[in-house]
Amino acid sequence: MQLPKIGRKPEDILNDLESFKAKDLPWESGRVFAYVYDPGIEGKDILKKAYSSYLTENALDPTVFPSTLKLENDIISMAGGLVGAKEDFVGNFTTGGTESIMLAIKSARDYFRHIKPEIKTPEIVVPHTAHAAFHKACQFLGLKAIVVPVDKTTYKAIPEEMEKAITPNTILLVGSAPSYAQGVVDPIPEMAAIAHKHGILFHTDACVGGLFLPFAKRAGYDIPDFDLSVPGVTSLSMDFHKFGYAAKGASAVLYNARDLRRFQIFTHSGWAGYTVINTTVLSTKGGGPLAACWAILNLLGEEGYTKIIRDCREGTEKIINWVKQEEGLKVLGEPVANLVAVASDKYSVFRISDLMRKKGWFLQPQLAGSTSQENIHFSIGAGNVEHIDSMLNDWKEIMQQIRDENRPDMVPDMEMLIGMLENATPDTFTQMETALGLQGADLPDELEPINQVLNRLPVDLRNQLLTEYFNRLYNN
Ligand SMILES: *Cc1c(COP(=O)(O)O)cnc(C)c1O
Repeated sequence: MQLPKIGRKPEDILNDLESFKAKDLPWESGRVFAYVYDPGIEGKDILKKAYSSYLTENALDPTVFPSTLKLENDIISMAGGLVGAKEDFVGNFTTGGTESIMLAIKSARDYFRHIKPEIKTPEIVVPHTAHAAFHKACQFLGLKAIVVPVDKTTYKAIPEEMEKAITPNTILLVGSAPSYAQGVVDPIPEMAAIAHKHGILFHTDACVGGLFLPFAKRAGYDIPDFDLSVPGVTSLSMDFHKFGYAAKGASAVLYNARDLRRFQIFTHSGWAGYTVINTTVLSTKGGGPLAACWAILNLLGEEGYTKIIRDCREGTEKIINWVKQEEGLKVLGEPVANLVAVASDKYSVFRISDLMRKKGWFLQPQLAGSTSQENIHFSIGAGNVEHIDSMLNDWKEIMQQIRDENRPDMVPDMEMLIGMLENATPDTFTQMETALGLQGADLPDELEPINQVLNRLPVDLRNQLLTEYFNRLYNN
């Protein structure tokens, strides 16, 4: 598109914007088990109104817009109250889990630069189940991520493996509560105790669980300890834009000590312009996400969240119990929240997700990794609960269809592909993507061949292939 020469009519513009969504996932149907966290009609209404009422306010300078400081302080204190923060805890509102994690790691890096300048390349130790955001943070910030295997049955991090990976360069250990992929909570108290013993920091990634586990505990479910009340845990991330049902762009990073958060803050008053003091990555920062987050926390309150969590957990248990009795399917680990990964030693999970998609259900395929099996992932939110019975009915039919058709997995000639890719130029990747039907945003109906290839490729080749794909997808 070119910038129009003369401005267009507002109604045409808004119609266009609506029409662009035609091919998006139909998330309002409740049939999408990932990416979307729908609080229902009343929640959406207040999110929109609150967001637009703070559209123009700029959280860049809280001395000029004290309203944004008030919102942030309120949100952080509500968050701290949920996750056992110490009395003198501190924290900031960020744009998402990735930013919260990145800031926790920046603080750790700069704190250690201060106390142990002899460390040249700092390392963090992460279980294989830790979110990709930790790898991104390391890549952006010049750290090294040391990945350790998790237990192949429980999918939990193994404290002894974490300890073995500690070197004189280690500055931080990581645990998930729960992991996104399998919904399993790591043994945080044991892991944080190891960090403490070695004089290093510990981050609990409660991005997806921070607004679920505290209410689940209150509702009487058996939830292992994970939060800032656990000795040795020094920072924690939690996302409001997941099961807090806030508008996207809403997360928090919390610290048990102000001394550590100091290293998060960037200040520069020596250039030719206004003084810049940034607590987070962004500088100019819209007030919308803050206002919408503040609004939904106040709308739902403890009671509202607890009710949603009960419903989601009951729905999750329905899925778990159904999978356990279905021939050829299994649940990975023992998910304690509302996230489930389903694998199969007998059937192609990618075939299942393709067939489910044809029936209008979106389940997220997850590829195999060093200590994990390929699987399909469900995040069960408020908007999904009432659709679970009909989802399971369709799934049952699909399993029958898969048994009846008894079709071999679509496995390409991997040796040839890997041979091709090992000496690849960007052109090789382009040719391969074309051969696989990976072109533009319109993916083929059947993603199984693509997923089977990706699933079998070594991770670095996978990464290169997908990087080339996105480098062309955003096409200008
Ligand atoms: C979602 C998630 C993240 C990343 O959060 P974004 O908001 O997508 O940046 C990190 N860790 C866990 C456990 C998550 O579920």
